[in-house]
Amino acid sequence: MSHITRVTRFGIVNVYLVAEEDGLTLVDTAIAGSAKPILSAASELGAPIRRILLTHAHSDHIGSLDRLAAALPDAEVLISTRDARLLRKDKSLDPGEPQTKIRGGVPGAKTKPTRTLEPGETVGSLRVVAAPGHTPGQIALLDGRDGTLLCGDAYSTLGGVETCARTNPRFPLPALATWHKPTALETARALRALDPSALAPGHGKVIDSPLAAMDEAIARAS
Ligand SMILES: [Zn+2]
Repeated sequence: MSHITRVTRFGIVNVYLVAEEDGLTLVDTAIAGSAKPILSAASELGAPIRRILLTHAHSDHIGSLDRLAAALPDAEVLISTRDARLLRKDKSLDPGEPQTKIRGGVPGAKTKPTRTLEPGETVGSLRVVAAPGHTPGQIALLDGRDGTLLCGDAYSTLGGVETCARTNPRFPLPALATWHKPTALETARALRALDPSALAPGHGKVIDSPLAAMDEAIARAS
């Protein structure tokens, strides 16, 4: 049985509740207005949310952060060091980065991270994996227990498995909000190389045994 529970808002955007020994890690917070359904899903699981972990700082992933942080004053709030800047609405680019404007909704949040993360760190059972391209500091999270990959928007599965490096006409949003597609394609390849057993995206259903579908999506975007 999987350690993760998907909570979807309108079938369009997901958050995940990841079971750990001390309670739950909430991955992403969806759009504004999602705090109540997320909190009820956690209470159905009968465990407290200990951590709020953000894959990236777009509005459809941080939309309920402030409400949830207020409701969960003891929870840690975690995001990559790079996307923490987007969380404070700082859209500046570093000299070494592609000088392409950051796209997508970056509304910022009042909530400050309690700690910022670098690739290679772990949060409970989840290993932080760099997944830049959609935003400069997006991260994916690999569950070391079973190989499930929570991939943020590096891949979406709504309307078919696709990388955010290619516009899926059935669900164009992730590609339209992508900062730098060549970097996103490199990320798609790097995540595929992790051989995940399941792919848990920000948008769409969880896909088991996703490797062939990931290969096809990479080929379409290449
Ligand atoms: Zn998204």
